[in-house]
Amino acid sequence: MRRSSVNRLAAGAIEGPIDLPGESHAESSVAEHRPEPVALPTRLRKPTCVSTPALADRFGRIHRSLRLSVTDRCNLRCRYCMPAEGMRWLPGLAIATADEMIRLVAVLARLGVQDIRVTGGEPLVRPDIAVILERLRGVTGIREISMTTNGVLLARHIDALVDAGLDRLNVSIDSLDPVRFAAITRRDDLARALEGLAACERHPTLGPVKVNAVVLRGVGEDDVLPLAGLARARPYVVRFIEAMPLDAGREWNADQVIPGDELRRMISAVWPLRELSRSRPSAPGRRWRFVDGAGEIEFVSSVTEPFCAMCDRLRLTADGRLRSCLFATEETDLLGPLRGGAGDDELIELILANVAAKGPGHGIGTPGWTYEGRPMSMIGG
Ligand code: SAM
Ligand code: SF4
Repeated sequence: MRRSSVNRLAAGAIEGPIDLPGESHAESSVAEHRPEPVALPTRLRKPTCVSTPALADRFGRIHRSLRLSVTDRCNLRCRYCMPAEGMRWLPGLAIATADEMIRLVAVLARLGVQDIRVTGGEPLVRPDIAVILERLRGVTGIREISMTTNGVLLARHIDALVDAGLDRLNVSIDSLDPVRFAAITRRDDLARALEGLAACERHPTLGPVKVNAVVLRGVGEDDVLPLAGLARARPYVVRFIEAMPLDAGREWNADQVIPGDELRRMISAVWPLRELSRSRPSAPGRRWRFVDGAGEIEFVSSVTEPFCAMCDRLRLTADGRLRSCLFATEETDLLGPLRGGAGDDELIELILANVAAKGPGHGIGTPGWTYEGRPMSMIGG
């Protein structure tokens, strides 16, 4: 769908009701653009909660979470994310200022967004990151602020981040072996990342810090047990994330993905596991506890077990574009209109149109599926 169609959808979303599955409205411009119906779990056919109907999509999913990318820059070059060299950065002026981000978040919060995950690129390379957090804390309606970071700059920032209002933290560390860490990230920074992780233990309010790990086949098998062991030895929840075709170098292939189930079998052969219920229905990760009670791990199996049907996430890129899915082929520019003097009503219209056009799921693995949009580091992971 071209951007002009997205704008036409804006009119439909504002002038008429948003069609929800199970309801029939007269034909509208939204209906013209509706793809073939897809089978969704019965409980999704009607939304169970309509307290913020403005951000309900056509499938009844209510959007309350935002991934806010504050930069596309990074101090590492993880091989499943960025090429070793030649990454093309957004021009500085294209990146939203703290003021602009807060204004956009405030509009989204008016529509029911409650939880913000600050990400990037690497959020800690942005000099005003603590200011952004503090200002987010002041936005009416925002309930929880979390962050995903590679941890390299964390030791020096963690106190200021918590003071500014950080509630939850994920630190991405793919290997506890310095040589393999350097091979994956192309930087010799494991010691600094671990120092950052340890510094978080000064802040019990963060709850269990989560450690994100992407394990690639043929690269990271030897990292699986040490990472699981970290969840047993320290107060962290380790999350194994399947690699998705979102690397800027376009080198992903399905053979690189170790399914979460396979990793779980490797771990439970040594330390038996039992499954826990999801922390909330829209949580992407399946949680498992070691049977001996020594800790908890999660599997985010986006490729082999997509959780699109329960997705409640939107994404705002560092250059102020709203995306309803990591794999969305369309995004809606909010920063341009904001800089052009758009009022809240105009921004709301654009946001509603974007959510109305959200597809049922990412479709990885379906025959002929391709994705040519922006990579993870430019969207915000
Ligand atoms: N730089 C920060 C970091 O690495 O934590 C935040 C941004 S990064 C894009 C957010 C998360 O996305 C990280 O946990 C990273 O491992 C994950 N990630 C990056 N590229 C990925 C890919 N192609 N597939 C799956 N996860 C990916
Ligand atoms: Fe940087 Fe995070 Fe991408 Fe690694 S995963 S290159 S740390 S943005």
